[in-house]
Amino acid sequence: GSVLEIKDLHVSIEDKEILKGVNLTIKSGEFHAVMGPNGTGKSTLASAIMGHPKYEVTGGSITLDGEDVLEMEVDERARAGLFLAMQYPSEISGVTNADFLRSSINARREEGDEISLMKFIKEMDEAMDFLEMDKNMAQRYLNEGFSGGEKKRNEILQLLMMKAEIGILDEIDSGLDIDALKVVAKGINKLRDENFGCLIITHYQRLLNYIEPDFVHVMMQGRVVKSGGSELSQRLEAEGYDWIKKELNIED
Ligand code: ADP
Ligand code: MG
Ligand code: MG
Repeated sequence: GSVLEIKDLHVSIEDKEILKGVNLTIKSGEFHAVMGPNGTGKSTLASAIMGHPKYEVTGGSITLDGEDVLEMEVDERARAGLFLAMQYPSEISGVTNADFLRSSINARREEGDEISLMKFIKEMDEAMDFLEMDKNMAQRYLNEGFSGGEKKRNEILQLLMMKAEIGILDEIDSGLDIDALKVVAKGINKLRDENFGCLIITHYQRLLNYIEPDFVHVMMQGRVVKSGGSELSQRLEAEGYDWIKKELNIED
Protein backbone atom coordinates (compact mmCIF):
# COMPACT_ATOMS: atom_id res chain seq x y z
CA GLY A 1 0.00 0.00 0.00
CA SER A 2 0.89 3.67 -0.29
CA VAL A 3 0.43 6.73 1.88
CA LEU A 4 0.13 10.28 0.62
CA GLU A 5 0.79 12.68 3.47
CA ILE A 6 0.09 16.37 3.23
CA LYS A 7 1.36 18.35 6.18
CA ASP A 8 0.79 22.02 6.92
CA LEU A 9 0.75 22.80 3.20
CA HIS A 10 0.93 26.46 2.21
CA VAL A 11 0.47 27.38 -1.45
CA SER A 12 0.46 30.76 -3.18
CA ILE A 13 -0.63 31.84 -6.63
CA GLU A 14 0.98 35.01 -7.87
CA ASP A 15 2.05 35.91 -4.31
CA LYS A 16 -1.45 35.45 -2.92
CA GLU A 17 -1.64 32.76 -0.25
CA ILE A 18 -4.46 30.33 -1.14
CA LEU A 19 -3.69 27.27 1.01
CA LYS A 20 -2.96 28.19 4.60
CA GLY A 21 -1.87 24.96 6.22
CA VAL A 22 -3.64 21.89 4.81
CA ASN A 23 -3.27 18.56 6.58
CA LEU A 24 -4.53 15.34 4.98
CA THR A 25 -3.41 11.73 4.90
CA ILE A 26 -4.68 9.37 2.21
CA LYS A 27 -3.83 5.70 2.34
CA SER A 28 -4.42 3.18 -0.40
CA GLY A 29 -7.69 1.43 0.30
CA GLU A 30 -9.33 4.67 1.48
CA PHE A 31 -11.75 6.95 -0.35
CA HIS A 32 -11.67 10.55 0.85
CA ALA A 33 -14.00 13.32 -0.26
CA VAL A 34 -13.07 16.99 -0.04
CA MET A 35 -15.98 19.40 -0.16
CA GLY A 36 -16.20 23.12 0.27
CA PRO A 37 -17.57 26.35 -1.14
CA ASN A 38 -16.22 27.80 -4.38
CA GLY A 39 -12.86 29.49 -4.20
CA THR A 40 -11.66 27.79 -1.01
CA GLY A 41 -8.63 26.21 -2.62
CA LYS A 42 -9.76 22.69 -3.54
CA SER A 43 -8.40 22.84 -7.08
CA THR A 44 -5.29 24.59 -5.76
CA LEU A 45 -4.70 21.58 -3.52
CA ALA A 46 -5.08 19.17 -6.46
CA SER A 47 -2.77 21.24 -8.64
CA ALA A 48 -0.13 21.54 -5.94
CA ILE A 49 -0.12 17.76 -5.42
CA MET A 50 0.47 17.25 -9.12
CA GLY A 51 3.09 19.99 -9.43
CA HIS A 52 1.41 22.59 -11.59
CA PRO A 53 4.09 25.27 -12.07
CA LYS A 54 1.74 28.14 -11.34
CA TYR A 55 1.23 27.02 -7.76
CA GLU A 56 4.09 27.90 -5.45
CA VAL A 57 4.48 25.80 -2.34
CA THR A 58 5.69 28.18 0.34
CA GLY A 59 5.57 25.82 3.31
CA GLY A 60 4.77 22.34 4.56
CA SER A 61 5.29 19.01 2.86
CA ILE A 62 3.78 16.38 0.58
CA THR A 63 5.22 12.88 0.75
CA LEU A 64 4.31 9.59 -0.92
CA ASP A 65 5.54 6.64 1.12
CA GLY A 66 7.98 9.00 2.76
CA GLU A 67 9.40 10.29 -0.53
CA ASP A 68 9.30 14.04 -1.06
CA VAL A 69 6.71 14.62 -3.80
CA LEU A 70 7.58 18.31 -4.03
CA GLU A 71 11.08 17.39 -5.18
CA MET A 72 9.69 15.26 -8.04
CA GLU A 73 9.07 16.49 -11.59
CA VAL A 74 5.47 16.21 -12.78
CA ASP A 75 6.12 13.02 -14.77
CA GLU A 76 7.95 11.49 -11.81
CA ARG A 77 4.87 12.07 -9.67
CA ALA A 78 2.81 10.07 -12.16
CA ARG A 79 5.46 7.35 -12.26
CA ALA A 80 5.43 7.22 -8.47
CA GLY A 81 1.73 6.30 -8.64
CA LEU A 82 -0.16 9.59 -8.39
CA PHE A 83 -2.94 10.24 -10.84
CA LEU A 84 -4.67 13.57 -11.31
CA ALA A 85 -7.96 14.06 -13.11
CA MET A 86 -8.11 17.78 -13.77
CA GLN A 87 -11.21 19.92 -13.51
CA TYR A 88 -10.36 21.17 -17.01
CA PRO A 89 -8.35 18.46 -18.81
CA SER A 90 -6.09 19.80 -21.54
CA GLU A 91 -6.38 19.04 -25.24
CA ILE A 92 -3.40 17.61 -27.08
CA SER A 93 -3.70 17.88 -30.82
CA GLY A 94 -1.91 15.26 -32.90
CA VAL A 95 -1.77 12.68 -30.10
CA THR A 96 -4.50 10.06 -30.16
CA ASN A 97 -6.17 9.04 -26.99
CA ALA A 98 -4.89 5.47 -27.40
CA ASP A 99 -1.29 6.60 -27.98
CA PHE A 100 -1.41 8.87 -24.98
CA LEU A 101 -2.78 6.10 -22.78
CA ARG A 102 -0.27 3.56 -23.94
CA SER A 103 2.70 5.84 -23.40
CA SER A 104 1.36 6.86 -19.98
CA ILE A 105 1.06 3.21 -18.98
CA ASN A 106 4.54 2.44 -20.26
CA ALA A 107 6.01 5.43 -18.43
CA ARG A 108 4.95 3.64 -15.20
CA ARG A 109 6.69 0.41 -16.23
CA GLU A 110 10.34 -0.60 -16.37
CA GLU A 111 12.18 -0.38 -19.65
CA GLY A 112 11.88 -3.71 -21.46
CA ASP A 113 8.61 -4.46 -19.64
CA GLU A 114 6.34 -2.30 -21.81
CA ILE A 115 2.75 -3.45 -22.29
CA SER A 116 2.33 -5.30 -25.59
CA LEU A 117 0.10 -3.72 -28.20
CA MET A 118 -2.24 -6.73 -28.11
CA LYS A 119 -2.62 -6.64 -24.35
CA PHE A 120 -3.07 -2.89 -24.39
CA ILE A 121 -5.83 -3.02 -27.01
CA LYS A 122 -7.59 -5.81 -25.15
CA GLU A 123 -7.50 -3.92 -21.84
CA MET A 124 -8.56 -0.68 -23.48
CA ASP A 125 -11.48 -2.38 -25.23
CA GLU A 126 -12.65 -3.92 -21.98
CA ALA A 127 -12.35 -0.66 -20.07
CA MET A 128 -14.17 1.27 -22.81
CA ASP A 129 -16.98 -1.28 -22.81
CA PHE A 130 -17.23 -1.04 -19.05
CA LEU A 131 -17.46 2.75 -19.26
CA GLU A 132 -19.93 2.55 -22.16
CA MET A 133 -17.65 4.61 -24.37
CA ASP A 134 -17.79 4.86 -28.13
CA LYS A 135 -14.80 2.91 -29.52
CA ASN A 136 -13.83 5.65 -31.95
CA MET A 137 -12.88 7.76 -28.90
CA ALA A 138 -9.63 5.76 -28.88
CA GLN A 139 -8.45 7.19 -32.17
CA ARG A 140 -9.47 10.78 -31.57
CA TYR A 141 -6.94 13.38 -30.50
CA LEU A 142 -6.74 13.70 -26.74
CA ASN A 143 -9.66 15.73 -25.43
CA GLU A 144 -9.96 17.64 -28.71
CA GLY A 145 -13.62 18.42 -29.26
CA PHE A 146 -14.62 16.02 -26.48
CA SER A 147 -17.82 17.01 -24.75
CA GLY A 148 -17.66 17.67 -21.01
CA GLY A 149 -19.03 14.21 -20.30
CA GLU A 150 -16.64 12.52 -22.75
CA LYS A 151 -13.67 14.22 -21.08
CA LYS A 152 -14.71 12.97 -17.65
CA ARG A 153 -15.30 9.42 -18.87
CA ASN A 154 -11.95 9.54 -20.58
CA GLU A 155 -10.24 10.57 -17.34
CA ILE A 156 -11.80 7.53 -15.69
CA LEU A 157 -10.60 5.37 -18.58
CA GLN A 158 -7.07 6.63 -17.91
CA LEU A 159 -7.51 6.00 -14.20
CA LEU A 160 -8.70 2.43 -14.79
CA MET A 161 -5.79 1.66 -17.07
CA MET A 162 -2.95 3.49 -15.32
CA LYS A 163 -2.92 1.40 -12.15
CA ALA A 164 -2.31 4.47 -10.04
CA GLU A 165 -2.00 4.03 -6.28
CA ILE A 166 -3.48 7.37 -5.31
CA GLY A 167 -5.97 9.23 -7.53
CA ILE A 168 -6.87 12.90 -7.16
CA LEU A 169 -10.20 13.57 -8.86
CA ASP A 170 -11.09 17.24 -9.11
CA GLU A 171 -14.80 17.78 -9.83
CA ILE A 172 -14.99 14.64 -11.91
CA ASP A 173 -18.76 14.99 -11.56
CA SER A 174 -19.17 18.54 -12.81
CA GLY A 175 -21.40 18.94 -15.85
CA LEU A 176 -22.41 15.28 -15.98
CA ASP A 177 -25.95 14.13 -16.56
CA ILE A 178 -27.19 11.40 -14.26
CA ASP A 179 -26.31 8.51 -16.61
CA ALA A 180 -22.76 9.73 -17.13
CA LEU A 181 -22.44 10.34 -13.40
CA LYS A 182 -23.39 6.73 -12.69
CA VAL A 183 -20.86 5.46 -15.22
CA VAL A 184 -18.10 7.60 -13.72
CA ALA A 185 -19.01 6.34 -10.24
CA LYS A 186 -19.02 2.75 -11.49
CA GLY A 187 -15.49 3.25 -12.84
CA ILE A 188 -14.20 4.67 -9.57
CA ASN A 189 -15.92 1.96 -7.53
CA LYS A 190 -14.29 -0.70 -9.71
CA LEU A 191 -10.94 0.50 -8.38
CA ARG A 192 -11.92 0.08 -4.78
CA ASP A 193 -9.39 -2.28 -3.27
CA GLU A 194 -6.51 -2.18 -0.85
CA ASN A 195 -4.09 -1.00 -3.55
CA PHE A 196 -5.92 2.16 -4.47
CA GLY A 197 -6.85 5.28 -2.57
CA CYS A 198 -8.39 8.48 -3.78
CA LEU A 199 -9.25 12.03 -3.02
CA ILE A 200 -12.56 12.98 -4.58
CA ILE A 201 -13.00 16.73 -4.75
CA THR A 202 -16.61 17.65 -5.26
CA HIS A 203 -19.05 20.43 -4.79
CA TYR A 204 -22.06 18.22 -4.41
CA GLN A 205 -23.26 15.26 -2.41
CA ARG A 206 -24.75 13.89 -5.68
CA LEU A 207 -21.64 11.88 -6.65
CA LEU A 208 -21.30 10.64 -3.09
CA ASN A 209 -24.67 8.94 -3.40
CA TYR A 210 -22.90 6.51 -5.74
CA ILE A 211 -19.41 6.45 -4.23
CA GLU A 212 -19.47 6.14 -0.50
CA PRO A 213 -16.44 7.90 0.95
CA ASP A 214 -14.75 6.58 4.07
CA PHE A 215 -13.84 10.13 5.10
CA VAL A 216 -15.29 13.54 4.27
CA HIS A 217 -13.30 16.74 4.73
CA VAL A 218 -14.56 20.29 4.49
CA MET A 219 -12.24 22.96 3.14
CA MET A 220 -12.81 26.61 3.87
CA GLN A 221 -10.53 29.55 3.30
CA GLY A 222 -7.54 27.42 2.47
CA ARG A 223 -7.73 24.92 5.30
CA VAL A 224 -9.41 21.64 6.13
CA VAL A 225 -11.72 22.84 8.89
CA LYS A 226 -13.73 19.71 9.59
CA SER A 227 -13.50 15.98 8.93
CA GLY A 228 -15.96 13.17 9.45
CA GLY A 229 -17.66 10.25 7.76
CA SER A 230 -20.23 10.20 5.00
CA GLU A 231 -22.87 11.65 7.36
CA LEU A 232 -20.97 14.94 7.07
CA SER A 233 -21.54 15.24 3.32
CA GLN A 234 -25.22 14.45 3.81
CA ARG A 235 -25.54 17.23 6.36
CA LEU A 236 -23.77 19.66 4.00
CA GLU A 237 -26.19 18.77 1.23
CA ALA A 238 -29.17 19.37 3.49
CA GLU A 239 -27.94 22.44 5.36
CA GLY A 240 -25.14 24.05 3.34
CA TYR A 241 -21.98 25.41 4.97
CA ASP A 242 -23.31 28.10 7.28
CA TRP A 243 -23.55 25.87 10.34
CA ILE A 244 -19.85 25.03 10.03
CA LYS A 245 -18.95 28.70 9.79
CA LYS A 246 -20.98 29.38 12.93
CA GLU A 247 -19.59 26.38 14.76
CA LEU A 248 -16.01 27.37 14.00
CA ASN A 249 -16.47 31.15 14.08
CA ILE A 250 -15.37 31.59 10.47
CA GLU A 251 -16.08 35.01 8.98
CA ASP A 252 -16.91 35.36 5.26
P1 ADP B 1 -11.95 25.87 -5.56
O1 ADP B 1 -11.44 24.77 -6.41
O2 ADP B 1 -12.16 25.48 -4.13
O3 ADP B 1 -13.18 26.50 -6.12
P2 ADP B 1 -9.53 27.24 -6.36
O4 ADP B 1 -8.42 26.45 -5.79
O5 ADP B 1 -9.82 27.08 -7.80
O6 ADP B 1 -10.84 27.02 -5.48
O7 ADP B 1 -9.25 28.77 -6.11
C1 ADP B 1 -8.86 29.30 -4.83
C2 ADP B 1 -8.54 30.78 -4.97
O8 ADP B 1 -7.39 30.94 -5.79
C3 ADP B 1 -9.62 31.60 -5.62
O9 ADP B 1 -9.68 32.84 -4.95
C4 ADP B 1 -9.15 31.77 -7.03
O10 ADP B 1 -9.62 32.98 -7.58
C5 ADP B 1 -7.65 31.77 -6.88
N1 ADP B 1 -6.98 31.20 -8.05
C6 ADP B 1 -7.09 29.93 -8.45
N2 ADP B 1 -6.35 29.71 -9.57
C7 ADP B 1 -5.78 30.88 -9.87
C8 ADP B 1 -4.89 31.32 -10.90
N3 ADP B 1 -4.46 30.47 -11.84
N4 ADP B 1 -4.49 32.62 -10.89
C9 ADP B 1 -4.94 33.46 -9.92
N5 ADP B 1 -5.76 33.10 -8.93
C10 ADP B 1 -6.18 31.85 -8.89
MG1 MG C 1 3.89 2.25 -2.92
MG1 MG D 1 -12.12 23.87 -8.17
